Amino acid sequence: MRIDIFSIFPDLIKGYFSQTVASRAIRAGVFELNVIDIRTKATDVHRSVDDAPFGGGAGMLMKPEPIFAAVEEQDPPRPLFLLSPSGRRFDQGLARELSLLDGFSLICGRYEGYDARIEDALADGAISIGDYVLAGGEIAAMAIVEATIRLLPGTLGNSQSVVEESFSSSLLEYPQYTRPAEFRGMQVPEVLLGGNHKLIEEWKKMMSIVKTIRLRPDLIEKRGGLDPSEADLLTKYGYAWMVEVHTRSQEDI
Ligand code: SAM
Repeated sequence: MRIDIFSIFPDLIKGYFSQTVASRAIRAGVFELNVIDIRTKATDVHRSVDDAPFGGGAGMLMKPEPIFAAVEEQDPPRPLFLLSPSGRRFDQGLARELSLLDGFSLICGRYEGYDARIEDALADGAISIGDYVLAGGEIAAMAIVEATIRLLPGTLGNSQSVVEESFSSSLLEYPQYTRPAEFRGMQVPEVLLGGNHKLIEEWKKMMSIVKTIRLRPDLIEKRGGLDPSEADLLTKYGYAWMVEVHTRSQEDI
């Protein structure tokens, strides 16, 4: 996979990825990361990448010429996405979609955003990392790339990590514990200390469902409620009241 990122702060992005899990994956050839400095394509003496909006309005906009020139010179992998609060909301599903591509590219905005022709005639779409406004697209780009490359075989030491973690099956991850088994009077659940793997798996599944119902009931609703085996599991562990609220009704399936 090849990922190209266009930014006026390339060192910020390179620095981050040189010190995280990505650096090992890049060295191992799992993916290739190119960070392109948009400012090198500015043509005036001040190397300007922004200008005032026509028709007035607060702040400055990213100019089209340096971004078009940088993209055309680089011929980056497509799709090419703008980072923008008005883009498609990034989530684990989109990370999965991106992880199946041979490559993709991201353009980081700054100031008050971009000249609209960049979105209309250069980019293939836009991605947002949430309903809030950052000062620039770099943090969004790093979040998207990190979430995506974690899913590539060879990035993480243990490929099972991405199978069991939060959102992998529309559920949050179950609580986890490490040594010591007792800390300040708080005990690790007994079941995890025994060697009964079937029971442990059952407990983890049950805790995932309970935690998701407690913290993110919207995720359960989105997948159409609990299925019968999940309902049985909750009942077995004494959470029958949760089942009543969240069981998938047969008419809805
Ligand atoms: N005026 C713009 C608006 O209202 O949509 C916001 C511009 S913001 C201050 C500057 C840049 O930060 C954006 O062009 C975008 O690249 C990036 N950015 C800000 N919030 C973002 C978000 N939630 N997701 C992705 N990128 C974001």
